[in-house]
Amino acid sequence: MNPESALAPPPSPERRVQRVRHELHRRDVEVVRVEPLGPHFVSVTFHAPSLAGFRSDSFDDHVKFMIDGPSPDEPVQRDYTPRRFDAGRRELTIEFALHGDGPAADWARQAQVGQRAVIGGPRGSMIIPVDYDWHLLVGDDSALPAISRRLEELPAGTRAIVIAQAAEPAGQRELASAATVQAQWVDSGQATVQALRELQLPGGEGYAWCAGEAAVMAQLRNVLLAEKRHPKEAMKVAVYWKPGASDFHETLEA
Ligand SMILES: Cc1cc2nc3c(=O)[nH]c(=O)nc-3n(C[C@H](O)[C@H](O)[C@H](O)COP(=O)(O)OP(=O)(O)OC[C@H]3O[C@@H](n4cnc5c(N)ncnc54)[C@H](O)[C@@H]3O)c2cc1C
Repeated sequence: MNPESALAPPPSPERRVQRVRHELHRRDVEVVRVEPLGPHFVSVTFHAPSLAGFRSDSFDDHVKFMIDGPSPDEPVQRDYTPRRFDAGRRELTIEFALHGDGPAADWARQAQVGQRAVIGGPRGSMIIPVDYDWHLLVGDDSALPAISRRLEELPAGTRAIVIAQAAEPAGQRELASAATVQAQWVDSGQATVQALRELQLPGGEGYAWCAGEAAVMAQLRNVLLAEKRHPKEAMKVAVYWKPGASDFHETLEA
């Protein structure tokens, strides 16, 4: 073995994550399918000829979902994960969590075929390679569409560890994947933090992706950095919602 390569540091995970920018498009779309996914989620599929050029390269992407607001100068705009895109049919599916009160969740609760909305973006994609030794995916209902998409996209031979939050057993769903998946369902934010604390992360190089409520995400980030000594270059912790705030999105700097 070349002695230099034996001493070389492992490849920086930072270099392996690829960021791609997309031209920004706003597309008028029409609802073509509405399917309940358990008691707390609805899957809504939109169609538009203009979706022909739609591109979403990563499970971590988001689009702006736009509907009419209380007045014409106050449209509602919220971030949602492109859960599935069928280029042939020009159909985009979004899975909406039916949380308490909010214009987007309220819209999803009553969504019907024929209704119209506007989809903006995605502006860009952060592509996390699949060839990490393991993938940690942690999140609440707002992150479940992204986690489900990632699991569907991970190929056979990869390994995923999932901590998913659902307030009640009926909110749990099947997590389909060709990867080897170790999944744990928990019923609260604090249980999510505790589950991560108790998790023995595997050896090798892994990528940790977490998304959900602000206070829980701050704690997960601390557990990963301070307790697990997980490298900051190989993690993303994103706030997908914050109690009392509308349309909140923040990536917590590691
Ligand atoms: C990048 C990104 C991707 C996302 N992808 C998805 C997705 O695919 N599916 C999905 O369902 N959500 C997703 N979210 C979360 C979604 O954008 C928020 O839940 C959003 O606030 C919902 O808008 P709203 O109009 O229903 O409520 P808002 O008007 O924004 O908020 C009203 C109130 O409800 C609270 N609230 C908001 N969301 C939740 C929640 N999930 N649980 C409990 N209380 C909440 C707010 O704190 C506020 O007090 C994503 C967020 C981001 C940033």
